[in-house]
Amino acid sequence: MDVKTVSRRGFMGGVAAALGYIGVRPGDVWAQARSAAPAVPRARLSTSEYDAVAKLASNENPYGPPESVMKAMTEAFKYSNRYGYPDGGIVQEIAAHHGVKPENVLLGAGSGEILQVVGTTFLQDGRKVIGVEPSYGSVYQHASGIKADAIKLPLRDDYTQDVAEMIKVARANYRDLGFVYLCNPNNPTGLVVSKQDVKLLLDGIPADLPVLIDEAYHHFIDDARYATSIPYVLEGRPVIVARTFSKIAALAGMRLGYAVAPKYLIDEMRPHAVGSINALVKWGGVAALKDTAAQEQVKRVTRELRDKTTAELQALGFSVIPSQTNFFMVHVKRHVVPLAEEFRKKGVLVGRPFPPMTEHLRVSVGTADEMNRFMAAFKEIFGPSRGTTAQ
Ligand code: PLP
Repeated sequence: MDVKTVSRRGFMGGVAAALGYIGVRPGDVWAQARSAAPAVPRARLSTSEYDAVAKLASNENPYGPPESVMKAMTEAFKYSNRYGYPDGGIVQEIAAHHGVKPENVLLGAGSGEILQVVGTTFLQDGRKVIGVEPSYGSVYQHASGIKADAIKLPLRDDYTQDVAEMIKVARANYRDLGFVYLCNPNNPTGLVVSKQDVKLLLDGIPADLPVLIDEAYHHFIDDARYATSIPYVLEGRPVIVARTFSKIAALAGMRLGYAVAPKYLIDEMRPHAVGSINALVKWGGVAALKDTAAQEQVKRVTRELRDKTTAELQALGFSVIPSQTNFFMVHVKRHVVPLAEEFRKKGVLVGRPFPPMTEHLRVSVGTADEMNRFMAAFKEIFGPSRGTTAQ
């Protein structure tokens, strides 16, 4: 089993190699990497270009917040000039939503802030994070940024996370570990870790080792083998569940996410959180939690468009990893960096490379129009040489 310990230097080496490929200055890419780099630097696009392209690179919700959320945010504008304004009881509402206490909830400006706070809190004294690769890289990038190391385990051949291996390596490195990172479902593959495997992991690793379970795409899942890990928080296990309003609730640009964890872990993390969450999104978040009909609608249309697009790709002979999320990976059998550039020239932004799966293109599920534009561009780029031999 090829276990890699990746340091900041190693990460920068990888970035430098990619830079040579796409001809971008290192400073630009480092800055982007720290903020979850888009495949094609957005800075290069003018506002009108950005507005015109099909945005299928960042797993956003293309429909925008529903009416109820827009109304709540619009009304909250009257607090723009205040500090100690009423906030709709966002922490209490999140706690009630999950059946936990407010002391179990920590807000972040996006769940990205929560992931960073977990890193800063638990990677002191040279401790390491363990997780799989590829996964949501910002956890490892933040570790690199604070000069901590990551132990990255490869995915299995079917692209699932190897929980037995994770337990083995976590036990062997217990003294050096700060926390375990489990992205469920995993970004970029879109595959879930089953509830049995999550239990196996939590029962198999040292009982006091914190586990960060990133459920950013929780709301899109249909697979009955999956379950949220919030009940483990109620049991008092050292589990930190990260959730976001960026995906199903379409509030990525407004920045709101949160952690649910036992009080003693929240208390450790809280001093590292900035707490700069704006008045509008606090009210928008409260409204979003209540508008389950809008979320169902987003889930339904996303699933339909995902299944339609992936069926079309498979009909062309390309294999697709069966995603449970609002994105999917198609095995294009070409390096995705130049390919993404070809798509960009055709007005379609698609995902960045996720080493070592550099020949799998991650595509977010956009609107029907955006998916049509993606398929049209795909057919133009791949032409008659279809992926019939793709496994
Ligand atoms: N976790 C995962 C798995 C993600 O894919 C993302 C964003 O794409 C995030 C966390 C961070 O999202 P945000 O900071 O917008 O909540």
